[in-house]
Amino acid sequence: MPKHIFITGGVVSSLGKGIASASIGRILEAKGLKVALQKLDPYINVDPGTMSPYQHGEVYVTDDGAETDLDLGHYERYTNSTLGKVNNVTTGQIYSEVLQKERKGEYLGATVQVVPHITDAIKERIRQVSRGKRYDVILTEIGGTVGDIESLPFLEAVRQFRHEVGRENAIFVHLTLIPFIRAAGELKTKPTQHSVGKLREIGIQPDVLICRTEKKISRSMKDKIALFCNVDKDGVIEARDVATIYQVPLMFKEQGLDAVICRYLHIEYKAGSLHHWDKEVVQRVLNPKKSVKIGVVGKYIALNDAYKSIYEALQHGGIANDAHVSIKKINSEKITAQNSKSVLKGLSGILVPGGFGNRGIEGKLKAIEYARENGVPFFGICLGMQCASIEFARNVLGWKNANSTEFNKKSTHPVISLLEEQEKVQNLGGTMRLGAFPCSIKRESKAYEAYRADEISERHRHRYEFNNAYREEFQKRGMKISGVSPNGKLVEMIELEDHPWFVASQFHPEFKSKPDRAHPLFREFVKASLDYQDPKGLAPRKEE
Ligand code: GLN
Repeated sequence: MPKHIFITGGVVSSLGKGIASASIGRILEAKGLKVALQKLDPYINVDPGTMSPYQHGEVYVTDDGAETDLDLGHYERYTNSTLGKVNNVTTGQIYSEVLQKERKGEYLGATVQVVPHITDAIKERIRQVSRGKRYDVILTEIGGTVGDIESLPFLEAVRQFRHEVGRENAIFVHLTLIPFIRAAGELKTKPTQHSVGKLREIGIQPDVLICRTEKKISRSMKDKIALFCNVDKDGVIEARDVATIYQVPLMFKEQGLDAVICRYLHIEYKAGSLHHWDKEVVQRVLNPKKSVKIGVVGKYIALNDAYKSIYEALQHGGIANDAHVSIKKINSEKITAQNSKSVLKGLSGILVPGGFGNRGIEGKLKAIEYARENGVPFFGICLGMQCASIEFARNVLGWKNANSTEFNKKSTHPVISLLEEQEKVQNLGGTMRLGAFPCSIKRESKAYEAYRADEISERHRHRYEFNNAYREEFQKRGMKISGVSPNGKLVEMIELEDHPWFVASQFHPEFKSKPDRAHPLFREFVKASLDYQDPKGLAPRKEE
């Protein structure tokens, strides 16, 4: 039977519960333990697929096609676990499951209630993660902040779960804030005491407190927190702001969090080592040899979380090239024909990420035109590939009205359009082309240079596709189709023949990049950007 760690958050949101959970996963994996991670989200949407990135941040896609919370991205980046549909549970999923059962008559005779029916369904989902698999530890992060109305059923369910499996099989980790009050020049423990009190009210006594703080927490303050919150002294862990989020596992291990967890969960302690993580990830991030400026042109630029995996994957590409990637976030709605040069000047690479809807499209097209004409490395992802196709059709093939039918149903040259099966779709939730699909790579291509493989597998999340009617004309004019579905029917990758690095994919490579194993396309894109910035043997290139 696997051991369980439940992670809750207190005081305020945005303390980095996802990164804390992923980091605990990392330090346990370093001991050779097999871990899985799971997130319980208290909102009523069945999944975040229908939410705006401004509401929710990025929608992270798994191999099995689940549209999930972006914390699953942290879990996959920090650990080796492959996650899927079972690893993200929402209130919406739980209620629809219980309501379906009720309609079938499965609870015949009973009044269906939050306790026990909803809580039972939640506990069942927690158990499902390990069904048929062999995990040593399952980490379950509970979304929201303690005290919220919405997360109560989840907290009650995990309280019961712990009671059922016993103390040596499940522990509670609470992430909390120790604010620094500048005027008083002091760190304050009171909000943490209240937050732990709130947890105790519902029957949960945390075993470990992870304390987010700007300043060092002294031994005596740690002891005070331990005393007032009723946890062991070594169960109070400081989580100070760090230069890179990849330092968090090291910080936890230094303070012996792994030993504390092993003790509570009766797991035989093995030292384990984070040497590889430290050397190949943290030290490389902290001590880059070069720096390169890459522009990300999208419409959800104001929110950091909206393109989370893209930003992470760019950093990974930097790590692989011993470079710091300085990301310039550019709102595509602000790019016009008049200002595109001045806005984009100075960039050594341009990336256009995925997206939905017409807003900001013209700016993306301008950015792509600039990259294509000036030989600036370009990487288009999903909508980015679709835009690259539209731009090429309009400006190289001369079809001024070329478009995606997502934006103009009456375009004379619909170079991006719906597949027949998508035309019939009525419900918008969970009906896109989702999850991992194989892709065959053409040998003589930048794609092959990056992957060094004839067949790859990448994750998708889109409805529209490259329109096959236009393949030939694109190819004739120098747009290579370098990746297709194995049956040849779907265009998955395109690239310009006559350009240093202009590559675009219908899939989302960013979801499979890891800090110590940069995704090949991101690695090569960053490399091309470095070469553009400083071509070997030539003076640094200047744009007019
Ligand atoms: N809106 C486009 C489609 O549905 C692209 C989606 C995306 O970029 N994820 O095909």
